[in-house]
Amino acid sequence: MGSIFLKKGRDKLSKNFHPWVYSQAIEKTENASSADVVKVFDSEGKFIAYGFYNSNSKIAIRLCEWNENKKIDKDWFSEKINEALNYRKFLNIEKKTNCYRIFFSEADNIPGLVVDRYGEYYVIQVSVKAIENYIDTIIDILKKKLNPQGIYLKIDEDFATKEKLKLSNGLIYGHIPEEIEINENEIKYIVNLKSGQKTGFFIDQRNNREKIRKYVKNKSVLDVFCYSGGFSLNSFYGGAKEVFSLDSSKDALFSLEKNVKLNGFSQPEVLNGDAFLILRELVKKEKKFDVIILDPPKLSKKDTDKERALRAYKDLNMQAMKLLTDKGILFTFSCSGNISRDDLKKAISWASIDSGRIVKIVDNLFQSEDHPIRLSYPESEYLKGFICFVE
Ligand code: SAH
Repeated sequence: MGSIFLKKGRDKLSKNFHPWVYSQAIEKTENASSADVVKVFDSEGKFIAYGFYNSNSKIAIRLCEWNENKKIDKDWFSEKINEALNYRKFLNIEKKTNCYRIFFSEADNIPGLVVDRYGEYYVIQVSVKAIENYIDTIIDILKKKLNPQGIYLKIDEDFATKEKLKLSNGLIYGHIPEEIEINENEIKYIVNLKSGQKTGFFIDQRNNREKIRKYVKNKSVLDVFCYSGGFSLNSFYGGAKEVFSLDSSKDALFSLEKNVKLNGFSQPEVLNGDAFLILRELVKKEKKFDVIILDPPKLSKKDTDKERALRAYKDLNMQAMKLLTDKGILFTFSCSGNISRDDLKKAISWASIDSGRIVKIVDNLFQSEDHPIRLSYPESEYLKGFICFVE
């Protein structure tokens, strides 16, 4: 096993259980090759943790085990997966849904491994090079513990480039039907694991979708970035008078229409196109809505995107505020890792000034609890949102 020594003064976060070590923090490496498990030491040669190494990545080491007596082998993977499953049991997610994240990467202590459950089918996402070498071990463990009907591997293109991954999308065990029906808080959805976005469904918004219900009775709702209709369907469930659902993806809107039928709701008004343009057009037409949801895709992927992304968040929120009735409700989100809760709040505050609206924050919104937020790894809190009361 290779060894890596960190620079003096660059080891504090690592000692405090933060999993990421940037390449600039490395003093020297000994026999460490990419995709290996390595032993990481401080500048005085004291053991800090085991980690997965990738010299091609900006985050060169992902720490995973701080106990020197452990071995990173099949039993170790099995133990970590067990802990994650027990945590979901403690959370009692199955009371709400048969679709949830059973393993969330660094937050569950195996960097680069995500596993989502869709009923009896599972999707694995790999985003760290070293995990490629353990994929068979992981599949073996999942088969034993979960008795799946099928496992599908899905690789995110961004990670594939960043980490130089070799794996690609495909069925890795059993069979996967074209369409899978899942349920979430008494609403049914049809999900296509192969062609859907992310692992098929935006599981992380479960609690926030449910929260919309109490704000929409007899109201008109505009669901911007609606995907397969999560917030739209929950608005119908909550008794909305009318729902407008907007997305740039025709496939997403097609699945929204299917999901609406499946649940016996009336069809929403569908708007297909770029949200940035359509919102402007709606403002021009002086349209008004009582409730607006803004759930954009990741607008900032790297640090150089941040300033431009903040302006985009501001713009979206400003258009939404212009479209809201007096005392309207805005559910607004960012899932960009490098946009903090305070950053998003700042963007909303610029939007309130430029739209001439007074905004009160009713509630803070987070990713659902099956995507744990680990305190020693603040980046795990990636989904931030607010419920705003707009006067
Ligand atoms: N609210 C959804 C998830 C939204 S994901 C849910 O609860 O399931 C983000 C969505 O934004 C995707 O469906 C994607 O197709 C859409 N999208 C991306 N860029 C867009 C743009 N410029 N205009 C409109 N929709 C866009």
